[in-house]
Amino acid sequence: MSGTSSTKSPLRRVFLAALSSAVLASGAASAQGVVNVYTTREPGLAAPLFEAFTKATGITVNSVFVKDGLAERVKAEGAASPADLLMTVDVGNLLDVVDAGVTQPVQTPTLTAAVPANLRDPAGNWYSLSLRARLVYADKDQKLSSFTYEELADPKWKGKICIRSGQHPYNVGLTAAYLVHHGEAKTEAWLRGVKANLARKATGGDREGARDILGGICDLAVGNSYYVALMRIGKGGPDQQKWGEGINVLLPVFEGGGTHVNVTGAAVAKNAPNKDNAVKLLEFAVSPAMQAIYAQANFEYPVLAGAAVDPAIAALGPLKVDPISLVEIAKARKKASELIDRVGFDS
Ligand code: FE
Repeated sequence: MSGTSSTKSPLRRVFLAALSSAVLASGAASAQGVVNVYTTREPGLAAPLFEAFTKATGITVNSVFVKDGLAERVKAEGAASPADLLMTVDVGNLLDVVDAGVTQPVQTPTLTAAVPANLRDPAGNWYSLSLRARLVYADKDQKLSSFTYEELADPKWKGKICIRSGQHPYNVGLTAAYLVHHGEAKTEAWLRGVKANLARKATGGDREGARDILGGICDLAVGNSYYVALMRIGKGGPDQQKWGEGINVLLPVFEGGGTHVNVTGAAVAKNAPNKDNAVKLLEFAVSPAMQAIYAQANFEYPVLAGAAVDPAIAALGPLKVDPISLVEIAKARKKASELIDRVGFDS
């Protein structure tokens, strides 16, 4: 979902396959042992974290890329599952692995100190590792220094707002947060207001919002934080660089709250054969140095307060994370999706 891509050469695959079978055959994975990570994230994104972990501890990280169906796969493997740590994006996917019964609660002073209470499972089944914020991109002619999500429904923006499908998980999450803050009646009214303000059909991706601001179609667009950095550093090519440089970026807040975020995170697997190493890796991932490196890989915010932020993200301004619980937001997603349909947001 991030737009970054990695390509592995066939040679590298063969090398890695040979390496892992050699390791298995010799039974000498490492004197310190191994940790098996199942991840839905693009393999390159966590590689720097894993390499540093092995260097620091001697523990070998075997990472398995699971594109779809993480919960189903671990469930099907049952008690024989080799998975120790499950890593994924979006709080909905983290709750899915908990609901599938394939995680176990872990509480350590290091983890609970590093990860704010609203960004982890109260029982310790999962922890956020990095954050992405849902922001407002604005035409540079709009002299705005602050903004609230509530204002997206202000009739002054009639015909001026671009946004992707209301049913995209990013917008369902934002609407779910709105529900937690304001309740059903106000959320429905807000959705109708935003819908009435659309400059075009709710479609495309977040980056197209920036494109359409530059193209004069809209004055405001809703988009994730990391896309701004990806566009501005030219990761998507020269056109996207122009889109990224052509916008101002606002960190909106809920009235009386903060900025809506989603997360990447990790959970220790229920049948983890190397549980101690999984916990060690989790704790390593929330250390200050690793937080900076892990978050930087996809231009996200570290979950650990005070950890270094990539300059392209820091340039957007300070993030004040909405204090409501991600678990509450995740629970409200179904209702949010129903309301988005009820107002015909995407039609
Ligand atoms: Fe994305």
